[in-house]
Amino acid sequence: MSEFSKLRLLILLVHVAGIAGVIAYWDPAWLALTLIAVVLFTWLGQEAYCHRYLAHRSYELAWLWQKMFACLSIFNLFGSPIGIASTHVNHHRHSDSPFDPHPASAGWRTWLWLTPGFEQSRSVGTVKRLMQDGWLVFIQRHYFRIYFSVVGVASLIDIRIAIYGFFVPVIYAFFCNGVVNVICHRFGYKLFQTNDDSKNNLIANLILLGNGVAFHNTHHACPSDYRISRRWYEIDVVALLIDLFRRKGRSN
Ligand SMILES: [Zn+2]
Ligand SMILES: [Zn+2]
Repeated sequence: MSEFSKLRLLILLVHVAGIAGVIAYWDPAWLALTLIAVVLFTWLGQEAYCHRYLAHRSYELAWLWQKMFACLSIFNLFGSPIGIASTHVNHHRHSDSPFDPHPASAGWRTWLWLTPGFEQSRSVGTVKRLMQDGWLVFIQRHYFRIYFSVVGVASLIDIRIAIYGFFVPVIYAFFCNGVVNVICHRFGYKLFQTNDDSKNNLIANLILLGNGVAFHNTHHACPSDYRISRRWYEIDVVALLIDLFRRKGRSN
């Protein structure tokens, strides 16, 4: 079984365990932990680090934050940072063309990560660049071991930590990823003329709780700008988080 098939199987199991767990241990107070996990794993690990930092190199980040955010991204279950970033670079390169790793035109297959590009499409240059980072190589090699160790210990302490802190956030993140890959390449408004179908979508950004990547047309037009919002009503919380952590140069 390929690493990517293992990842998809694990995501499926997490969906089953998360839904069953919430039914068996329903307690809305624990959703606070889910929100914290979304901030750590999805916003910092996936969106701020794997997407805007690794794939797009849109800001500078100190060594310690690089290592920490790379670890956080593991628990978002989108795969190793090298895989995420190198596939994503190809998404930008071939958006909405037959070579797009996850074209919106593939609808539910893109939503469920069933298009072949999810597994096979990698920017070779990005892989080479990121393989220079020993920490990212270590994470790639031990991805599942790290995941199961941490989630296993969490389960032993209190099963609700695993359910609300690790399973429910992944279900939510996976759903949001489908919203961005499918909805934000079909519905919404354009602020920029781009060679793809990317759109800015306010409802999608509400579903994403202000992540900001739902202003997808702006992101496709200006991928090297970590600040995606261009209008006062376009909320981009991840850019605010990046402002807290990024290394500031003399000019900014
Ligand atoms: Zn896109
Ligand atoms: Zn991007």
